[in-house]
Amino acid sequence: MSFSSLQLSEPILRALKDLGYTQPTPIQEQAIPVILSGKNLIAAAQTGTGKTASFVLPILQCLNNGHKLRGKRIRALILVPTRELAVQVEKSIAAYSQYVELSSMAMYGGVDSAKQTQRLVWGIDILVATPGRLLDLAQQRALHFDELEVLVLDEADRMLDMGFIGDINKIIERLPEQRQNLLFSATISNEVRALAKRSIYRPVEISI
Ligand code: AMP
Repeated sequence: MSFSSLQLSEPILRALKDLGYTQPTPIQEQAIPVILSGKNLIAAAQTGTGKTASFVLPILQCLNNGHKLRGKRIRALILVPTRELAVQVEKSIAAYSQYVELSSMAMYGGVDSAKQTQRLVWGIDILVATPGRLLDLAQQRALHFDELEVLVLDEADRMLDMGFIGDINKIIERLPEQRQNLLFSATISNEVRALAKRSIYRPVEISI
């Protein structure tokens, strides 16, 4: 199996070639076609399996193909449990999006929020955020989700373990109902399943 047989476009294939990726990992083989088809997804996958690229690559492709309306609004939101993961996921996005014109940023607590909101004013396509800081800024009306197309809950089990369920629910209430939902978790616990049941309509399930 090759990345080009997964129907990824030329600018994305070029970035993967630069990074030295020769073939997709199992989670990428399974998740990329589902996400490109626009379906909702729940995936059981550990860190180290290539799960980040399995959602970032198809999201880049979908956003790059779509119409950008006003260009000032967030189109993909990736929620992660920690600041470290936010930084790491955003770095991956930057590497994979080298040849597409999409912008991304990581937003997390513990740093000056004024600088982070300034960048939002310029327009960000893909936002990677921890739930607490994101909710703060959304409540201050510094963030608008009316053009949001995709929500990713990454490491959902860890987010729930860290007590983010209340924040996640409040964030989801602010999102457009028409959106694609992707949930990744090392284990699909009862709590993860309950979250998925409330917020994700008829997902495809994969496990690697
Ligand atoms: P992740 O599971 O998303 O944390 O990714 C684990 C590591 O695998 C990261 O350092 C990625 O850069 C790398 N990686 C992801 N997909 C591939 C691939 N198809 N080929 C080679 N390396 C990859």
